[in-house]
Amino acid sequence: MARAYNFSAGPAILPEEVLKQVQSELLDFNGTGMSIMEMSHRGKDYSAIHTEAIDNLKELLKIPEGYSVLFMTGGASTQFSLIPMNLLGAGQTADYITAGAWSSKAIKAAQKIGTVNEIANTAKEIPTCVPGNDLSFTDGAAYVHICSNETISGAQVKEFPKTDAPLIADMSSDILSRPLDVSQFDMIYAGAQKNLACAGVTLVIIKDELAAKGPETLPELFRYQHVLENNSLSNTAPTFPIYIIALVTRWLLANGGLEGMQKRNEEKAGKLYAAIDASDFYKGTAVTEYRSPMNVTFRLPTEELEAQFVAEAVAKNMTSLKGHRSVGGIRASIYNAFPAEGVDALIDFMKEFEAANA
Ligand SMILES: *Cc1c(COP(=O)(O)O)cnc(C)c1O
Repeated sequence: MARAYNFSAGPAILPEEVLKQVQSELLDFNGTGMSIMEMSHRGKDYSAIHTEAIDNLKELLKIPEGYSVLFMTGGASTQFSLIPMNLLGAGQTADYITAGAWSSKAIKAAQKIGTVNEIANTAKEIPTCVPGNDLSFTDGAAYVHICSNETISGAQVKEFPKTDAPLIADMSSDILSRPLDVSQFDMIYAGAQKNLACAGVTLVIIKDELAAKGPETLPELFRYQHVLENNSLSNTAPTFPIYIIALVTRWLLANGGLEGMQKRNEEKAGKLYAAIDASDFYKGTAVTEYRSPMNVTFRLPTEELEAQFVAEAVAKNMTSLKGHRSVGGIRASIYNAFPAEGVDALIDFMKEFEAANA
């Protein structure tokens, strides 16, 4: 079977070169006679991979001094709780910007732990969008939380708000897709299974002075400071997904870094949005200025046609185009690793489908 054009929102497509390398090293990593999955997380072969993953991330994102790169578990969803557990003390307030399903989940988790002020909410707006920059922050807020790319609705933050409070961003679905000024943030986190690796590890980039604020009463593995002091190795790290991060970041560095990725991503998404805009049959779901280059969402005239579209696409080896169950419609997730030929194939299919069904 040929490789599918896999439009899955996550776990998502990985670069073919990376998968082939994994395959070639699976029985014998680096002359050790074993796979990377089977060796100590404290041995020298795994240590080199752990260090490379961190170094590559620092290089790609130009992470400034004073920040640390952590590998945690429990997915981005666990961070929804760990952030307030570490950073939202009694008597403090955290500001949350809600723009869709994921930022709604983040605020719900925080509300269980402390006092939260929702300073904007566009989650229910159709066409979908993210809040603008006319925000009124809480004086002395513990932090401000934002989701950079709403994976389900297909809306992306283009410019981040400026605030005196620490800014924390969930970048699960657009991390490493474009150059980023990390110094705007005090913490960035991302589940790996969209743009970084396979499921099983969560990337956290945190300012050291913020990590130090977590209370000592927290269980050690829930405290950023503890994870930081132990280089994410105080217990068994998720070695296999971290190895995939090392390979994916190596692939990014060899393919033009984040500038190169942004160019490719804009070309891919630009073509697809142009095809949507050129037709009255397809309608984009997100406000044009907030369209995500990662998750392209659109509707057809009826739900029956959408179901037929998804089914006929599968017959052409284009999979996972069905929108999230909570919103319906069509969603084409075209992360870094998604090939340009797959976007061309989708556009051709959209034209054929419209000609046959409009
Ligand atoms: C997928 C996703 C999550 C949830 O990630 P898990 O690793 O499954 O917990 C959170 N935020 C965003 C923006 C996502 O796309």
